[in-house]
Amino acid sequence: MNVLKGKVALVTGGSRGIGAASARHLASAGANIAITYSASADAAAELVKEFETLGIKARAYLADASDPQSLPQVVELITADLGSIDILVNNAGTFSVGVIGTVDEAEYRRIMTINVDAVFTMTQAVLKVMPDGGRIINIGSVLGERASTAGISTYNASKFALAGLTRSWAKDLGTRNILVNDVQPGPIDTVMNPADGPNADQMCRNTALGRYGQPDEVAALVAFLAGPGASYITGATINVDGGWNA
Ligand code: NDP
Repeated sequence: MNVLKGKVALVTGGSRGIGAASARHLASAGANIAITYSASADAAAELVKEFETLGIKARAYLADASDPQSLPQVVELITADLGSIDILVNNAGTFSVGVIGTVDEAEYRRIMTINVDAVFTMTQAVLKVMPDGGRIINIGSVLGERASTAGISTYNASKFALAGLTRSWAKDLGTRNILVNDVQPGPIDTVMNPADGPNADQMCRNTALGRYGQPDEVAALVAFLAGPGASYITGATINVDGGWNA
């Protein structure tokens, strides 16, 4: 069903993984799609071609989240190409490990810049063009509500920040009927966290279902939150984690 026909959705880091799957689900629901990428230009271009075969408008934009000040200009380009942005999926993100006392400060800054500062700046820019009734979906993490192991405090802090921003933005934007939610994946089989990686067995044991999730299993929730069925859901953090945080 084309429940998002005529809407414009922007998915940051939409070139692969959870972002690409989210863009596919939104495209299948009829939305016109903008995706951003920093390194995966070829993958982004392939995805745009795939979307165009669905008869929707789709464009990919170079937008490096490690340089947040460059992002408002990208929003202007998207708006000029596709029109105002109804749905923003803040998905671009990166991971890092390090035990406190030994964390490299530049690496701490890098993670916070990409995972938090860029989300803030992108959202501020998009809100200038988002109509009332829009949707903002932040891709957080199960590590945005607990520390499940040592050595992840920087990433933990960045995803806790997203959960906090989500709740506050929901309060800020309720009068405009803009709904803001935080989707918190558990272990999902992507380049960031491959199901055949060194910690995969432990990851599976930490879930109730004993397995990794697939990007489509997160994307299905993203598309639901973007659609009419989610009209009374805002300020929520929703886990898609196979029971990791149960
Ligand atoms: P991937 O590494 O597969 O994909 C990351 C995406 O983010 C890519 O599209 C990448 O684009 C983009 N990205 C990374 N750095 C930048 C940057 N500096 N500027 C712009 N885009 C960037 O990861 P996932 O799909 O797994 O992760 C997506 C989100 O889900 C992240 O926010 C992550 O924290 C979160 N998450 C993932 C989990 C998992 O187990 N996979 C678990 C919990 C949360 P490009 O290649 O072009 O740089």
